Amino acid sequence: MREITISNGELKNIISEIKSVAQLFYQRGWAESNAGNLSVNVTSVLENEKPENIQEVENFSLTKTYKHIANQYFIMSGSGIRFRDIAAEALNNTVLIKIAEDGKSYFYIVNNGADFAKIKPTSELPTHLAIHDFIQKEKRNEKVVIHTHVNELIALSHNKAFKNSNKLTQLLHSMHPEVVINVPKGIGFLSYMLPGTEHIADATVDLLHKHNLIFWEKHGIFAVGHTPLECFDKIDIISKAAKIYLICKMYGFEPEGIDEQHILELKRFFSV
Ligand SMILES: [Zn+2]
Repeated sequence: MREITISNGELKNIISEIKSVAQLFYQRGWAESNAGNLSVNVTSVLENEKPENIQEVENFSLTKTYKHIANQYFIMSGSGIRFRDIAAEALNNTVLIKIAEDGKSYFYIVNNGADFAKIKPTSELPTHLAIHDFIQKEKRNEKVVIHTHVNELIALSHNKAFKNSNKLTQLLHSMHPEVVINVPKGIGFLSYMLPGTEHIADATVDLLHKHNLIFWEKHGIFAVGHTPLECFDKIDIISKAAKIYLICKMYGFEPEGIDEQHILELKRFFSV
């Protein structure tokens, strides 16, 4: 196991939170094999306290220009890496990258050749970068993007009745008050597309105008938030709602659901 030589306290805390959520996703059964990936914008963390002797090494072209995240730093899960491996050893299984000044390529960042691994970032790099670019363009302050395969939601997306943002949100809101309070904007639904492409990245970003949780049909969810644990909590809450629906169906009845009036009452009372 490599020793963590990073002295930046804030960065250490982020790495420790990444390890915690990777473990939680794996324990929930939402991160089979190498499923799932994550990225954290750590630009402000590094600006506050620049680690010693950091170097930009190697340079990899991007197929698109990400001008709003030029010169910014990201921790990314590595390609083909298991979440359970990140939980055990975050630094060996993540990579720290810097987007070049022109937004058209990225560098690996190393600290005396130690700390973060020099491994290829996740195959969903186009979606992670497109989301971070959008966040900066819109001057929003979310830092974290996480993708994972939530069984209960994947199951629901095999049902034609829930294959749009409104219907899926209505269902999840009607299963438990906490969903309305914690995920008031609901969930954006993206019809099936080939993963790992700029096409799915652009379609995901389109849904970010309205939602912080975006579901890829028959595949999994993308959560955008301020911290890794916030992303986990939101996913956990909506997965519980989906599970309640599925448990009712398993018991052989259609759930009654919280009615629209009560959902509106919750939104008003909690000002969400
Ligand atoms: Zn996936």
